[in-house]
Amino acid sequence: MRTKLIAGNWKMNTNLADAHVLANGIRSEVEHIEKIEVVLCPPTIWLIELAHNIPLGKLPHLKLGAQNMYFESKGAFTGETAPEMIKEVAEYVILGHSERTHIFHEDAELISKKVKAAFAAGLKPILCIGEDVQDENSKTQLAHQLTELVAGLSEEQIQTLVVAYEPVWAIGSGNPATAEYAQEVIAALRQVVNAETRILYGGSVTEENAKAYLSQEDIDGLLIGGTSLKLKPFVTVCQIADDLS
Ligand code: PEP
Repeated sequence: MRTKLIAGNWKMNTNLADAHVLANGIRSEVEHIEKIEVVLCPPTIWLIELAHNIPLGKLPHLKLGAQNMYFESKGAFTGETAPEMIKEVAEYVILGHSERTHIFHEDAELISKKVKAAFAAGLKPILCIGEDVQDENSKTQLAHQLTELVAGLSEEQIQTLVVAYEPVWAIGSGNPATAEYAQEVIAALRQVVNAETRILYGGSVTEENAKAYLSQEDIDGLLIGGTSLKLKPFVTVCQIADDLS
C-alpha cells in the first residue's frame, strides 16, 4: 500500500513570522488527517524554528523536508548544508528540482551523489524529474533518465525513494499537465522503480485540479509550489488526498 504524500515546496518565500503562521495553521488544520503524509519544505533557514512545532518523528502525518542539500558531510563548502545537518530536524529532502538544474546547473551526476548521500544520512529523498518540452519521446527519455539516477541504489532504497514527476513547462506556469498525461508518464516511470515507490505529480496544482491527479492509479501524491503557500487551498488538497485514501 502506497501512502499518499502531499509535499509543499515553499521555495525562497516567507519571512520567519509568515513561516510560523503558515506551518502552525497547516498543523492545526491537518490534525485530523490520518491516512496520508504531509511534508512541508520551507527555506532551510526556517527548518530549526519550525521543528519546534513539527518535531522530527513526533507527528506521523506531518513532516518537514529541505529543498536541497550538498552531498558531503562536512568541510570547506561555503554556503552548503550537509545531509546530517538536515537529518537533525527533517525527514525528507527535495533533490534535483528543475530550479536547481536550470538556475544552478546541477547535473545528473551531482543529483545521483546527493540521492546516495541523503540515504546514507537517513533522509528520504524526493527526486524530481521532468521534461523541458512535451513531445512524443518524453516518456521514454524520462524513464531513461530515472534509470540512470537510481542506478546503484538498493531495492529497499528504491522503495523508500519518492519520485516527483514535474514537467518543467507546467511548473509555476498555470499550464498543468492533464491528469491523463501525468498518469501515462508516471506509469512509465513506475516500470523503472518499484511497485512500492511513491511517485508524485507536480506543476501548477491547485485545489480545483488536485482531485483529478489523486484519482489516477499510479499518482501517489503531489509536489506543490505556489498553492502550498496558501493555507486554505493547501489544506483542501490534503483533505482531498485523505478522503481518496
Ligand atoms: C514546484 O515548484 O515544484 C511546483 C510544482 O510549483 P507550482 O506548483 O507552483 O507549479
